[in-house]
Amino acid sequence: MTKATDTQTAIRMLESQLDHIEQDQSRKIEHLMRILEVACLLNSTLDLQMLLKIIQDVATELTETQVGSIFLRDKKTNELFFFSATGDAAEKLKKMVVPVEGSIAGWVVKNGYPAVVNDAQNDERHYEKTDYETDFVTRSLLAVPLVAQGKVIGALEVLNKIGDKAFTDEDLELLITLAAQAAVAIEKARLFAQNDLISEVVHELRTPMTSIIGYSKMMGMPGIPEQTKTQFAETIHREASRLGQMVNDFLDWARLESGRVHLAKEPVDLRQAVGDTVIMIAPQAEARGIQVSEQVPDGELIVTGDGNRIRQVLLNLASNGVKYNRDGGRLDFVVRLWESQVSVSVRDTGVGIPEESLPKLFQRFYRVPGTENVVRGTGLGLCIAKSLVEAHEGTMEVESVVGAGTTFTITLPLAQPDSGQVDAVAATQP
Ligand code: ADP
Repeated sequence: MTKATDTQTAIRMLESQLDHIEQDQSRKIEHLMRILEVACLLNSTLDLQMLLKIIQDVATELTETQVGSIFLRDKKTNELFFFSATGDAAEKLKKMVVPVEGSIAGWVVKNGYPAVVNDAQNDERHYEKTDYETDFVTRSLLAVPLVAQGKVIGALEVLNKIGDKAFTDEDLELLITLAAQAAVAIEKARLFAQNDLISEVVHELRTPMTSIIGYSKMMGMPGIPEQTKTQFAETIHREASRLGQMVNDFLDWARLESGRVHLAKEPVDLRQAVGDTVIMIAPQAEARGIQVSEQVPDGELIVTGDGNRIRQVLLNLASNGVKYNRDGGRLDFVVRLWESQVSVSVRDTGVGIPEESLPKLFQRFYRVPGTENVVRGTGLGLCIAKSLVEAHEGTMEVESVVGAGTTFTITLPLAQPDSGQVDAVAATQP
């Protein structure tokens, strides 16, 4: 080889290297631009779902992957749910959950580290059920934790690197940056929701407060007859009790919603729980001439859960069944047994609930219009009861006919016969 061709080859190699460097630089600039775009959106958009969709699109585009998902941890059940997902199965995924133990996303959330998985099918942490139910094959996967205020709240994941290439350090860095942006967006949305909630609570507490302040002021005015003063005092007492009840109910509900309530997982005999509720409601029912009955089928009626909380739900429904009943009416408890479920219906012969109010009934502070001045209440009882039933993996339904009565039905899964807890109960029964 001559000197001249040597030099030409060297020049060509240098040119090709320069080309590579240039391509690499322009790719990096392109990536930075995309991330900056997301950062700008973060400050200007309040639509969380839209923002997360963009973050996932950018994540899949820049890491050259097929689909992306955002998981959040449900504090109540300690499961991960799909908060957002891209791809054909996105809607289906949103109804599915992934366990913290036994999934790659779960591993990331639990340990707070990223997971780089180039062969998902041979990774023992891979959770196969989601693939199976969505007709999807996860080949490779990159997942990073979502961290807000020092806590891992979920994970951002991209799946199936195009061309089955391995994930690079650059992919990981990109996903970590996008995860930080997603976490900020989620936190911001949560803070907004919290502010709304605070305004709502303040608004609700203001009504009894205004009444207490107004009546106590009037009591001090000259020339008010003693009898009127007694009436004012009664009103103040009633409104102050309502205020106290609202605060207690609200705290109970807030604790339940945040997952800070520890629910016992013990065998609960529903026959006993219904019997206890009938005894507890008897004085209130008797005072209004309301007849109480119970129909309970034979056989085992054991559910797994928190006995006190289940009794709280039944008592709340029973108490409403008396409060919103007519004098001399009826209150019936009907228990039914299905294959693996048991339901308790609490049926009254009261005023009923108009159809347009039914969808709003389980919203916090909701009271059917016209109820406020007739029956005392906080509008939180049903909302707490429904949360409790759902925390027991159950459902709550309502049927009503105005002027004829209302039936609330809770359905709970029966305890699994093979669980040790139920055996223990069976063993202690005569
Ligand atoms: P409250 O403390 O007001 O009773 P709940 O959350 O228990 O709060 O109930 C919400 C509203 O639903 C009540 O204010 C009432 O208007 C309506 N409601 C609940 N139970 C019944 C029932 N059995 N019959 C008629 N209306 C009912």
